[in-house]
Amino acid sequence: MGKLAMLGGPRVLTVDQIPPQQVCWPVVTDAERESVLRVLDSGSFTSVAKGHGDIALLEKEWAEFVGVPYCAAVSNGTAAIELALAAAGLEPGAEVLVPALSFIASAAAPAQRRLSPVFCDIDPVSYNISHEAAAAAVTARTQAIMAVHLHGLPCDMDALRVLADRHGLLLVEDAAQAHGARYQDRNVGALGDIATFSLNASKNLPTCGEGGLITTSSEKLLQDVVLRRQFGEDLSGERTYLSSLLAGNEKLSAVQAAFTRCQLSRLPGWHAARDKNVRALLARLADLPGLQLPSCPADRTHAWHILRFRFTPAALGCPEIPAPALRLVLQRALRAEGVPLRPYQPVPLPAQPALRHQADHGSSQAARPWRREDHPVASAVTDDSLTLQRWHLNPASGPVLSRCADAFEKIWENMSTLILVARSAAGLLPSAPSAPSAPSPPTAPAPPTLPANRGWKLERGVARELA
Ligand SMILES: *Cc1c(COP(=O)(O)O)cnc(C)c1O
Repeated sequence: MGKLAMLGGPRVLTVDQIPPQQVCWPVVTDAERESVLRVLDSGSFTSVAKGHGDIALLEKEWAEFVGVPYCAAVSNGTAAIELALAAAGLEPGAEVLVPALSFIASAAAPAQRRLSPVFCDIDPVSYNISHEAAAAAVTARTQAIMAVHLHGLPCDMDALRVLADRHGLLLVEDAAQAHGARYQDRNVGALGDIATFSLNASKNLPTCGEGGLITTSSEKLLQDVVLRRQFGEDLSGERTYLSSLLAGNEKLSAVQAAFTRCQLSRLPGWHAARDKNVRALLARLADLPGLQLPSCPADRTHAWHILRFRFTPAALGCPEIPAPALRLVLQRALRAEGVPLRPYQPVPLPAQPALRHQADHGSSQAARPWRREDHPVASAVTDDSLTLQRWHLNPASGPVLSRCADAFEKIWENMSTLILVARSAAGLLPSAPSAPSAPSPPTAPAPPTLPANRGWKLERGVARELA
């Protein structure tokens, strides 16, 4: 049994075992360099004229890839959601069903459009919006469902479509994390009434900066999005400077489009490589007790944008340890071995400081402050899980992921020691040398940030005594 790096033993992943070319993202090749230089030499940077330039070509290629007639390129994924909701003409104050676990933009974009995000709990395995919770949240004011394909796994779209049709709701896909994922025989982006993608450098289809894409089969929605991304002006011919509606400026630039077109040409091949690498990692971790791995139902594919790992104290034989305390100790231990796991979303969306007071938006849910019991699954998941990001996006990350699996195995071999440390961190060890503050009991609101470093120093003190 190897001594934990956290206790002064050797790290599993040493720096020389993490070559940048195997873990960096996005991967930049000569194709990207040449494409970007070609744009610079062309002198045409912002053209959105039909049929010309990298922007229009990216739109055409992405629409073909997704399998829809229309695509509009925009400045980023958040703007894409705002534009999609604006184009759909939802009434101010209308309620939009949003999963309680997502990136802030899934809720901020509707709020910015003066819509009321109404949060629905998630499924504990897929982490996507629970269609039962969504059905229960529908009111006379509900006008849209935001189907966020979180971490790259498509939502249960059949159930959401039935719900949307029953109540006449717009079905929006937030596919910022799911480029190339498939549901049954269709691509993400072709499943809702309108779909939005991010091209942020961290996403599976990245650009060298910020960008976004919108797909739809509705010509009317497409035309409205196009007007709204460019001052409400028709820019298809000679510029008239006449605006038919009040709108901002959310166009994509040609350099961004050229870069993404290179990435798109490699998306299928790199998805296949990533799928193989990730499945090999997950297969190695499958038998570790108390560890819930990301999974993918047989009727869909997973883009594996983020890998989320849940740690269950009860299954590790320590039900008395609060999940955040165990998670913190495992995070420290895994990071010490060289595996860069971290929480993704510290709290459910409705617990975000910016959203706690959304009573201002008139939502029926917000007559009182948010409570954990409102979204118990999202609360549990944000308390007991850690994520791996970016590394595994690189198609050459296989060897590094295999070392990550070694690190998980080492941690599990040393689990009894780590459980002692976690008990101490949670104040459950009577002989602990000092009294660390206990993490919040399960009914308190989740802490907005990780416990401060002070906690770690205490753990180290305990750890040294144990060693
Ligand atoms: C990244 C992301 C967005 C926002 O995309 P940006 O391009 O960063 O604005 C929206 N929704 C989800 C789920 C995301 O992960």
